[in-house]
Amino acid sequence: MDKKPMSLFESAQAQLDEVASILHLDSGIHAILREPIREFHVSIPVRLDDGRTKVFKGFRVQHNNARGPFKGGIRFHPDETIDTIRALAAWMTWKCAVVDIPFGGGKGGVICNPKEMSSGELERLSRGYIDAIWEFIGPDRDIPAPDVYTNPQIMGWMMDEYSKFKGYCCIPEVITGKPLAIGGSPGRGDATSRGGVYAIIEAAKHLNIDLSATTVAVQGCGNVGSNTAVLMHEITGSKIVAISDSKGGIYNRQGLDPRQVLQHKIKTGSVINFPQAENVSNEELVELKVDILCPAALEKMITEKNAPRIRAKIVAELANGPTTPEASEVLYHNGVFVIPDFLCNAGGVTVSYFEWVQCLHKCYWEEEEVYQRLGKNMRKAFQAVLAESLKRKVSMRLAAYIVAVARVAEAMKLRGWV
Ligand code: NAD
Repeated sequence: MDKKPMSLFESAQAQLDEVASILHLDSGIHAILREPIREFHVSIPVRLDDGRTKVFKGFRVQHNNARGPFKGGIRFHPDETIDTIRALAAWMTWKCAVVDIPFGGGKGGVICNPKEMSSGELERLSRGYIDAIWEFIGPDRDIPAPDVYTNPQIMGWMMDEYSKFKGYCCIPEVITGKPLAIGGSPGRGDATSRGGVYAIIEAAKHLNIDLSATTVAVQGCGNVGSNTAVLMHEITGSKIVAISDSKGGIYNRQGLDPRQVLQHKIKTGSVINFPQAENVSNEELVELKVDILCPAALEKMITEKNAPRIRAKIVAELANGPTTPEASEVLYHNGVFVIPDFLCNAGGVTVSYFEWVQCLHKCYWEEEEVYQRLGKNMRKAFQAVLAESLKRKVSMRLAAYIVAVARVAEAMKLRGWV
């Protein structure tokens, strides 16, 4: 009989099991980390614009809080499942630990299709979600943030609803990713890409690569992909030779101006058919002869099939889960330097942490200060993972897990949980 493929959460547990055996993790700590500490399943009644009431299903999973309050985004998606939310909550625990910010891991989701909802319906759903979970979140308990199909406006409504329940005028530190005018942080918009660029700079130093002489292909042209292309062009002077979106990609060996490409995308709805470039498929883009490949779109874009044909020296995983475990092995054996997703894209949660700190202190920083602190955190995290990878002769991905799990386990031990 065919073996049932692992669910996302089962594969997150399998990754932990591997690290647990390398670290000879205490069996109690291992058992605690295999499961979320708690999870909530809620039903949210929402009055629709046509007068009917519809009940939406929502979740909040709190994986581990040994190092600080649970932290993680809220997704609004028609295909949301509790299994995905559990896996993402565990990955948030590792992400916060690897960049050494004082948070644990959590994640939330509501099964809904925001593309088919009016702004009023979305607001009532957002407030309804908070009505259902407000007692279990808070600035010292669990701090949500935006994720797939949620945005700063939704965070603003949620913060407002939470503040009303608590009886205060405004508790901005309960949620991050808010609009600037109500306690958002400067620099949050491009923080994920900026953090990724700082990690690429460290990787290039280690590999002795002059970034100003490199070529880059970016897959995805949403928040993360577009900002990565612009920042690589402007900070490192790299040549962006290819970029894509869901409709396809474009390529020009001489280099593209990412800001012009974005203008073209705003005007036409896609990067394709950009003048002075040839169209390529997303499959072709991944296999282009470039120095740096930045998958910044969806998961599972680099698979067993295309991994052997990847010619980049560095793969910077800006997206979550862009490389399958089998492809990861292939890249490692082919000597491709992979900056693993939960390190490479941790800039977003790092600036979320800065936002929480600023809200708690009621004192806001300049953009430059945010960039400086982000750079320091990313460099430190990258160097810790690199040192582990060199010491143990393992991939950067496994090294990142080892660093993260060891930090969480240490906190659990020191707190006397086992
Ligand atoms: P987004 O929705 O803004 O952009 C996604 C982009 O991917 C779009 O340009 C879309 O056209 C493109 N795309 C979709 N299908 C594609 C395909 N088959 N081939 C190529 N491109 C395709 O999302 P985002 O916020 O930029 O997130 C991108 C990735 O980064 C996701 O994996 C997300 O989980 C991860 N991430 C985002 C953040 C953040 O701060 N936004 C933080 C951490 C990780």
